[in-house]
Amino acid sequence: MTLPVDEDRLREDLETNATFGAVEYDDPEKRGRTARTGTEANRRARDHFVDRMEAADLDVTVDAVGNVVGVWRPASADRDAPPVASGSHLDSVPEGGIFDGPLGVYAALESVRAMQDAGVEPDRPIVVVSFTEEEGGTYGDGMLGSAVATGETTAEEALAMTDDDGDTLEEALSRIGYRGEGTLDPASWDGFYELHVEQDTTLESVGADVGVVTTITGITHCTVTITGEANHAGATSMDERTDALAAASEFVLDVESAANEIVGASSETAVGTVGSLSVAPNATNVVPGHVAAGVDVRDVDHDSMDAIVAAARESLDRLETERGVETSLDRPFDVAPEPMSDRLRAAVHETAAAGGREAIDLHSGAAHDSMRVARVTDASLLFAPSRDGISHNPREWTDWGDCAAATEVLAGAIARTAGVDDE
Ligand SMILES: [Zn+2]
Repeated sequence: MTLPVDEDRLREDLETNATFGAVEYDDPEKRGRTARTGTEANRRARDHFVDRMEAADLDVTVDAVGNVVGVWRPASADRDAPPVASGSHLDSVPEGGIFDGPLGVYAALESVRAMQDAGVEPDRPIVVVSFTEEEGGTYGDGMLGSAVATGETTAEEALAMTDDDGDTLEEALSRIGYRGEGTLDPASWDGFYELHVEQDTTLESVGADVGVVTTITGITHCTVTITGEANHAGATSMDERTDALAAASEFVLDVESAANEIVGASSETAVGTVGSLSVAPNATNVVPGHVAAGVDVRDVDHDSMDAIVAAARESLDRLETERGVETSLDRPFDVAPEPMSDRLRAAVHETAAAGGREAIDLHSGAAHDSMRVARVTDASLLFAPSRDGISHNPREWTDWGDCAAATEVLAGAIARTAGVDDE
């Protein structure tokens, strides 16, 4: 199944979307936009998306937290069959790129238009979706619209969240006309595809057209404290010290060793980082009395993440015994890795092979709405190449031809899943 997509039409949608909240730069290599949730730029982006969906005969609705949905119900489809859905997000970080989010939203719409143009007859309705506040930073930590849709957060909780000025999400959505009704229910979908820019260099380095994500990595954050005794750096002899920073230095190296050991033994994608240290009193002439450390652990395998955290705890126990410090370790943030659907991944690979597009398996180090959706139905995350892997930056770039090639694979995979026969 190869469905020709219209590169110019897709480009025009993305170029128009890029004008909403556009930031001007002297450097022609930079194309940035600031379209945070609930702003005028975000309203214009949503309005344009709604217009474009209605122009393609989709029925558009908006849910309680502003998730925007368009449904195409072709005559061939069983209206009650679970639909195949696709989409991403339209909000951006401040001075974000023009592809992160909008590519997945407009590629989903272009997939529907490609099916319409080709006159294919899917058995299932097709849903196109833009989730609210994926980036986070304005209301909460991110992926908010998909968190509500998948039941991890209630609509009431989300609507009560406030921005830096104390404005609630509910007020912001009401102001721009996107405080809708009901809650989107991805659990009722047969499957969900999200196309996103890779934000890394794997595809670019091998020259592949599309990345097929096997697993979205999990993330753990630990907060660690190491307490010794602050004392005079001149008057305290070496054998009388309980130096918190010297102990913390061993801890940093132990976490690095633990991650390296896991990489060598069981999971080469594991990473462990002590990314922050705060030393008190942080004075040259004082033996450090207290250190707070921030630890970041990620992998596609939750057990190996647990193993690195366990090694971090062992390191602290050892330091208590050997150096006389007091320690604590909390794990306030833990998101498990999320495997993507084998069924949908197979549909992507079959489509790419049929169209002569090179698709490679990879994992995603970044979280996307598809991570939430995968908890309630089959989900697949596809990547298009990112020049130099740059993202969340006005230098983010994916060539228009690369956007179209990845969209062609997306369209074929959606059609395949929706029961369009191979010819
Ligand atoms: Zn994104």
